[in-house]
Amino acid sequence: MNEVKNSYLGLIFDVQRYSIHDGPGIRTTVFFKGCPLRCWWCHNPEGIDSGKELMYFEYKCLHCGTCAHVCPMGAIEFDGIPIIRRSMCIACGSCSAVCPSDALKLIGKEYTVGELMKEIERDVLYFDNSGGGVTFSGGEPLYQHEFLLEVLKECKKIDIHRTLDTSGFAPQEVLASVMDYVDLFLYDLKLIDEKEHIKYTGVSNAQIKENLRFLVDHGRAKDVIIRFPVISEITDTADNVEALAEFISSMKGLKEIDLLPFHDVSEKYNRLDKDYKMTVHKSPSRERLLAIKGRLEGIGLYVKV
Ligand code: SF4
Ligand code: SF4
Repeated sequence: MNEVKNSYLGLIFDVQRYSIHDGPGIRTTVFFKGCPLRCWWCHNPEGIDSGKELMYFEYKCLHCGTCAHVCPMGAIEFDGIPIIRRSMCIACGSCSAVCPSDALKLIGKEYTVGELMKEIERDVLYFDNSGGGVTFSGGEPLYQHEFLLEVLKECKKIDIHRTLDTSGFAPQEVLASVMDYVDLFLYDLKLIDEKEHIKYTGVSNAQIKENLRFLVDHGRAKDVIIRFPVISEITDTADNVEALAEFISSMKGLKEIDLLPFHDVSEKYNRLDKDYKMTVHKSPSRERLLAIKGRLEGIGLYVKV
């Protein structure tokens, strides 16, 4: 009998069906909450914190004040609009439950392995017909590696294609524990210089580089697509693109890279009362993307923009 381990709980902030940008075919993308990095340009700020949190959509708000009345912690002050005292909020969800217009949303929901599998299995027919599957993204899925591993095992049992979208920032034994259950890695490389990496992501890139080499050394280069976020004046500098090309060239067998152009998500940060560090809200030009593409094609990579 197929017994699913339901003792593990995962905190998930979104399950997106019919996704076509996170690996081959039609996919269900599962977004894990929690990430050890603090990338300035992060386009999923609701995935950074490892706990639940409230998002406030001002354009939906009816200004009724109901949320402030029900909060058991007195964490919402109502002054024409609800002002959330984040330090007092225990993410109980009482306010979002009574909000008549869904202007408050509690981000993060616990799933057992079985519950998440039910969601994933809904679209098995689409996966089969399109060569798709499931993608684990975030946040950083390896941050909840025990839960991730159990879900990966269940997917493997029923032959669902499994993609892991990762920053690569995790202890090597964690990566090793999931490696055999992953079909495709979407592996971020952001900044090759360590000091720059620390400045813009909050962590060193040493482990990220070592983990990529670990995958390559274990014959998995063919199953890796590098993802490079193109952020003007941060990752998109002549030095960094050159260093990226050299670093990838030093790893035998890597074949493909996706360029991910920056887009402004300041609105999401506002909804979470988080600071958005990106002062240059500029997407890279088509010409610039083509120039980077040309450079990376020059080292034999297939480059997708
Ligand atoms: S989630 Fe709970 S504690 Fe936080 S503001 Fe809403 S009602 Fe208050
Ligand atoms: S309950 Fe909802 S609609 Fe009413 S003030 Fe609060 S956030 Fe706005």
